[in-house]
Amino acid sequence: MSETQEKKVALVTGGSRGIGRAICVELARDGYYVVINYKSNAQAADETLGLVRAAGGDGETSCFDVADAQQTADVIKDLTAKLSGFDVLVNNAGITADGLMAMMPDRDWHAVINTTLNGFYNVTKPVLKKMIRRRKGAIVNISSVAGLTGNKGQTNYSAAKAGLIGASKSLAQEMARIGIRVNVVAPGLIETDMIHDVPVEFMKEIIPMQRIGRPEEVAKTVRFLCSDDASYITGQVIAVNGGMV
Ligand code: NAP
Repeated sequence: MSETQEKKVALVTGGSRGIGRAICVELARDGYYVVINYKSNAQAADETLGLVRAAGGDGETSCFDVADAQQTADVIKDLTAKLSGFDVLVNNAGITADGLMAMMPDRDWHAVINTTLNGFYNVTKPVLKKMIRRRKGAIVNISSVAGLTGNKGQTNYSAAKAGLIGASKSLAQEMARIGIRVNVVAPGLIETDMIHDVPVEFMKEIIPMQRIGRPEEVAKTVRFLCSDDASYITGQVIAVNGGMV
């Protein structure tokens, strides 16, 4: 562990699959020791760890549900003690439970808000404590085009993703003097498990670039925002969406 203590350490929530996995690999390329959080899919998380190592980096997997405040606090406390805190936090874990609001089961509203918005709070607050003491850090929160424009059938998801933008802008203002930057990446339609029910051919017609994005295209933007190349950027939302407005 002494070797990892000298390294920059990143925590990526929802790092087992999709966009989170690509972010883990990009950060590994930048020399981070990557903590790959996941909720239940241990095999996928192990595969991400293999990709992180293949990219020349190292890391570990960490199972916790970001919607569970106590479990999250306990795990982050242990990780912080072991790794001396985090240089980078990427709040990427998210779920959808789509449906028209008039017919939405209460549990679908709460599940999406609890994972995306309360998950951000549950993870970020304990991570921030050590970042504040060290007076440095970069946080990137993964929102969505739905958080910017709304989307029929996604009131829960749009509310959570728009809330994430507001919270990020406020936190960026609170932390700017302390040397901690907070930014948002808002992807459009990206090729992952999350979009398996989306009518992709139809959607391509309304995307100016006429194609679905790749997880790597989001991850490279996250990598930039985490790096010193983005040292004067905070409180911003960068859309990665093929030109959707
Ligand atoms: P994905 O392929 O479905 O992967 C979701 C990831 O989040 C998995 O690693 C999953 O872990 C993890 N996760 C879910 N609930 C969690 C919880 N309660 N605690 C901890 N981890 C949890 O999704 P994705 O498409 O990569 O999406 C990643 C982020 O990008 C999400 O915030 C999503 O809203 C956002 N986004 C995606 C798109 C898109 O088109 N794909 C567009 C805009 C924004 P397990 O593997 O253990 O289940």
